Amino acid sequence: MAKEYLNYIAGKWVPSKSGRTFENRNPSYPDEVISVHPLSTKEDVDEAVKAAKEAFPKWSRIPAPKRAEILRRATEILIERKEELAQLMSREMGKPIVEARGDVQEAIDTGFYAFGEGRRLFAFTTPSELENKAAYVIRRPIGVAGLITPWNFPIAIPSWKIFPALLAGNTVVFKPASDSPATAAEFVKIFEEAGVPPGVLNMVTGSGGEVGEAIASHPDIRVVSFTGSSVVGARIAEIAARTYKKVSLEMGGKNPQIVMPSANLDLAVDGVLWGAFGTTGQRCTATSRLILHEAIYDEFLDRLLERVKTLKIGDPWEEDTNMGPLVNEGALKKVQLYIKYGLDSGAKLLYGGERVDRPGYFFQPTIFTDVDPNSRVAQEEIFGPVLAVFKVRSFDEAIDLANNVRYGLSSSIYTNDIREAMEAIERLEAGITYVNAPTIGAETHLPFGGVKQTGNGHREGGWTVYEIFTELKTVYIDYSGRLQKAQIDTWEDLE
Ligand code: NAP
Repeated sequence: MAKEYLNYIAGKWVPSKSGRTFENRNPSYPDEVISVHPLSTKEDVDEAVKAAKEAFPKWSRIPAPKRAEILRRATEILIERKEELAQLMSREMGKPIVEARGDVQEAIDTGFYAFGEGRRLFAFTTPSELENKAAYVIRRPIGVAGLITPWNFPIAIPSWKIFPALLAGNTVVFKPASDSPATAAEFVKIFEEAGVPPGVLNMVTGSGGEVGEAIASHPDIRVVSFTGSSVVGARIAEIAARTYKKVSLEMGGKNPQIVMPSANLDLAVDGVLWGAFGTTGQRCTATSRLILHEAIYDEFLDRLLERVKTLKIGDPWEEDTNMGPLVNEGALKKVQLYIKYGLDSGAKLLYGGERVDRPGYFFQPTIFTDVDPNSRVAQEEIFGPVLAVFKVRSFDEAIDLANNVRYGLSSSIYTNDIREAMEAIERLEAGITYVNAPTIGAETHLPFGGVKQTGNGHREGGWTVYEIFTELKTVYIDYSGRLQKAQIDTWEDLE
């Protein structure tokens, strides 16, 4: 029996004013409806924003260390419910259970970081150029924050936004992805149970085109934080600009792993298997391009081929499953289309390329060689278990090829040559570079984000996410008792 969830507005669980709902299905067995959720409209968003706006003055006045206490309680509940949430996530969107536990753990880590940040929220002090005058900077909450998240990290990504937004004193209207609304609702329940006051955190489910755009365009939302595809991110930025919002965008990737002749090849094979086929390739940081130096090309592919055959594809809630399904039928069709694009452009299938013969949206791990660097398979985010392999003759060629895409999120180089490693760190156009580790594996207390069409200059994670959810206020206190003029008075005027 499918569970029915509602929107969470002003501290109450309520249906959409539209009276309509949508189904949330298990991608491993699409006949199974896991839950039913409100198919909300702009009217529901208006209600949620009204509640958030009303709750803002009081919530923002609570001292940050006290807000942090409530968030600590939420984090403790997350610990208690970790296994149950991971199981639900695995059924809802198909992530292998081991990874689903990691997803919840990421939220736990982010919650405890936010708790600590309640006693930091550091800003700056600096000397004034005038005597008997203090100059410093404080952080202020912004107001109502609109948070729009993807389905591939159903708890981790909402946690990256909700914890810091609330800790900083903002109130929130949250729209989760339509492919992972049940874990999102359970996550919101945790904040309710922890004692977050009514109206401080609101959740509205429904389509991106309706609910997401209503958030991006609402005049009373002052900051929008979005994670998802670059196309949708650009659309949100355009709409949000009309009401002068602050907008943080975390978007797609086409992440390269380079392997040089000095590398430990077995380690690099481990890395690419995890990077390319973990989460069935459905990570923004997934390794979708493998750039091999010609000296190790044949040897590396032999070892990779041997290992890829051992990956276990199956029900994601089984402990030993390596690869679950793609998230929905649309994702499966997209991957199938890219297999055709690859073959049409002259690439060769080294492995995979087929749907798996079982219920659900399962697809084989797929490796293309002889890929044209300017073809669609080489350039576009497929968001599935498809790896494009390239052969290069030199380090410079590897770097140029790695940079020859419009995205810039994660990157990796396997080498034991210190010069290559250090130069790659400087020259790879990406927000993250790993040395002798795969392109996935970010830690929550470090900045996370990308360059080029992956981001718009912000970083989530660690202390940097607090830049997104606070405004800086500059304070001058003149205790000289006279009119002092910056840029005009000089030290010769001192008595
Ligand atoms: P998506 O289609 O862009 O959707 C992301 C969110 O935006 C969902 O909640 C979606 O709602 C909503 N949305 C869709 N159209 C909208 C619109 N016109 N206005 C406002 N909101 C709208 O992305 P996805 O398929 O969920 O996730 C995969 C993408 O996310 C990939 O490109 C991946 O690289 C990226 N990603 C990036 C990061 C990062 O940190 N850089 C992390 C994870 C994922 P519905 O679900 O209702 O459509």
